[in-house]
Amino acid sequence: MDIAGIKLSEAFKGSGCPVCRAMEKFEEDEIATILYEHVTDPEIRRKFRESLGLCTRHAWRTLEIALGNPLLGPLGVSIIYEDVLNVYLRGERERDECLLCRLVKDKEKILVEALANRLEELLPEYRSSPAILCRRHYEMLVEKLKKEPKLLKKLEEVQREKLMELDSRLKAFIDAYDYRSTRRPTKEEARALEETIEFLKGRPVVMSAGSENRRGRGWLLGLK
Ligand SMILES: [Zn+2]
Ligand SMILES: [Zn+2]
Repeated sequence: MDIAGIKLSEAFKGSGCPVCRAMEKFEEDEIATILYEHVTDPEIRRKFRESLGLCTRHAWRTLEIALGNPLLGPLGVSIIYEDVLNVYLRGERERDECLLCRLVKDKEKILVEALANRLEELLPEYRSSPAILCRRHYEMLVEKLKKEPKLLKKLEEVQREKLMELDSRLKAFIDAYDYRSTRRPTKEEARALEETIEFLKGRPVVMSAGSENRRGRGWLLGLK
């Protein structure tokens, strides 16, 4: 298996959607790189100016990551946002998308593509793993497998199996709360609610509602 394949199979080890998790990790690394190395980089500065300081989600995420890391702290973010506030005072307005939204979306495409290319080999691992592809990434993957009906059918079976298992765990969790119940929910059952939300809605990494509303869905698809 190549490096991308090994990385993907590692992503299957945890619960939840492996693509969402990988995007989350990528997003965090990108933010840290900007804060470590590019606070005064003219190109990065331009990107922040054009979006007046990223989208709402990524602006707060950037601050959160900076404050959560003692090696970073608030200085770099302050320098960036002081610059943005200044250009706003000089009359600059928001005219481009958030840099991080764009980077994360590009990464998402690469990850789904890599998964589709190696699925034949990775499917047995996916089946036996606790991971469940979220609805969005499952559908993106299905789209890529249209020309491989056999593999697609196998994926559909595995996904259905996983969702049925998730449903029975969530039911067992609900039952454990019944006043007649004499047992406490297991750890796996207690995880089922979050896993169900993650399957239906993904992790909050894909796109901020703010920038989606601002530009409309056409922008998401590159149609503008
Ligand atoms: Zn996902
Ligand atoms: Zn963003």
